[in-house]
Amino acid sequence: MSKLLFINSNRGKAAAIFQKYFYTERKILKNGEIIFMCPKKDCYASIKIDEHRRTVLEIRGEHTRHLQLTDSEIEKHERCGQKFHQLYLKLLMDLRHFIRIIMHNFTVLILQSGK
Ligand SMILES: [Zn+2]
Repeated sequence: MSKLLFINSNRGKAAAIFQKYFYTERKILKNGEIIFMCPKKDCYASIKIDEHRRTVLEIRGEHTRHLQLTDSEIEKHERCGQKFHQLYLKLLMDLRHFIRIIMHNFTVLILQSGK
């Protein structure tokens, strides 16, 4: 598995899984590229991701003293991420609906005041 999987970590920071390793967002560079680092202590492995968060540009260092994630762990993260994504979409829909109502009321108000 070499695809980049983005997940939401419970600390609110962006997190990703790449080649069965877990990474958390560490730093955004001036050119927009993002450094993700292994959150494990004593491990300095990191990856560099393009500004659109699609591809891994560079892999730095190697993971030490810890194992890769298991498939079931990755699956768990993936499911959790999807749930979050669905929640986000629903919120967006609600918001759009809300804005439409406001805009409608606003238009009615303008029409009425123009009379
Ligand atoms: Zn590591």
